[in-house]
Amino acid sequence: MTSQTIQAVRGMNDILPDEAELWEEFDQVARDWLRAYGYRPMRMPLVEPTPLFARAIGAVTDIVEKEMYSFIDALNGEALTLRPEGTASCARAVLQHSLLHAGPQRLWYAGPMFRHERPQKGRYRQFHQFGVEAFGYAGPDIDAEQIVMCARLWEDLGLSGIRLEINSLGSAEERQRHRAELIAYFERHHAALDADAQRRLHANPLRILDSKNPHMQDLIEGAPRLMDFLGADSLDHFKGVQTLLGEAGIPYRINPRLVRGLDYYNLTVFEWITDQLGAQGTVCAGGRYDGLLGQLGGKPAPACGFAVGVERLIALLKETFGDEPARSTAPDVYVAHQGELAARTAFRVADMLREAGCDVLLHCGGGSFKSQMKRADASGALLAVIIGDEEAREDSASLKPLREDAPQRRVPLDALAGEVGDYLFGDEQEREGQ
Ligand code: ATP
Ligand code: MG
Repeated sequence: MTSQTIQAVRGMNDILPDEAELWEEFDQVARDWLRAYGYRPMRMPLVEPTPLFARAIGAVTDIVEKEMYSFIDALNGEALTLRPEGTASCARAVLQHSLLHAGPQRLWYAGPMFRHERPQKGRYRQFHQFGVEAFGYAGPDIDAEQIVMCARLWEDLGLSGIRLEINSLGSAEERQRHRAELIAYFERHHAALDADAQRRLHANPLRILDSKNPHMQDLIEGAPRLMDFLGADSLDHFKGVQTLLGEAGIPYRINPRLVRGLDYYNLTVFEWITDQLGAQGTVCAGGRYDGLLGQLGGKPAPACGFAVGVERLIALLKETFGDEPARSTAPDVYVAHQGELAARTAFRVADMLREAGCDVLLHCGGGSFKSQMKRADASGALLAVIIGDEEAREDSASLKPLREDAPQRRVPLDALAGEVGDYLFGDEQEREGQ
């Protein structure tokens, strides 16, 4: 009889150790980068009340209409949703805990998001974002800083060729005037609209501009531009952002068709795009959302943020540098042992070496010295510490370099950590001492 093993949910990926090590390196770079810009960490729940997203993201959006993992809690009947993005949760938390009483806040979070999309390269049902949000800043300086900050991350990661597109969505009133013209325009071309567009025509016509349907591109190209409806304040804000980008030496393209998939944006919107990943080339997207806190029932405050798509950046890192993590993840030392006393000594020695700052793999599971040395070699460790009964009785261990042709030698246990440290870090310590 065969029994089938259970597989992961479609579009939700296991990230195995070889790849997870690359993710950890990415995390480390990102954490240092966020700290350098004064952003502080937040951790929000993965599950939120469903109405949060309907209210924050907008009812007529891809996410709320068809991508959310929503369910009724069988135990208490609550309507819940696995978060499809982090901004709504972050804004909820800021309001719930009155964080803005202490002044403006620069915040970040990272973790999985869930959207029921068609899985394909660069598009998954569980994917990960680094989200960055600034609350309480109204001027274009924070928008520009966030954009410049992305450029710095690409540099820190050693990535190039990610291009920047920006646009301004103006104010709600300006969008309202544009919207009337847009509806009139699309109504004149009603027959050319696809089913999605026809459905959105009166609910959310701006989103038609975001359509990926190739048959509608000419029609969209000729549509009234929101940019032509912006008033002096919006244009000033947009100019302010552009001036700072210019001073920072960041090239950009104004894309008047750049609208975001979420309803809550106003003024600045931006995307960072690579051509190296095929169709799913946007690695980072964001912008201003001054209306969100008010829309969630809180005291209104300006806000600006963006999210980095981790899977896509990891794919780009692999594309650029290959699969290997930059830093070796091999242990420093492999501890091999045989015999009962030796096993107890080895257990103690491994911990002593870790205390001294080494990464140590202690052999577990017995076996001959020969098979243990094979494991030691395969582990990538630089040194083997070998303990047999004789060594154990004499409170000593044998030290064997694994990556060079050097003799094995016996070292008393109380000198072992020093000897191992000299071998592994000697050069480093000398350099630091100079
Ligand atoms: P798209 O138009 O490609 O669906 P979006 O507007 O839905 O993108 P955002 O909600 O702005 O995307 O998310 C920010 C970033 O998160 C995206 O630029 C992308 O890098 C990443 N992202 C979004 N959805 C997915 C997904 N399903 N799988 C992997 N990454 C994603
Ligand atoms: Mg989407």
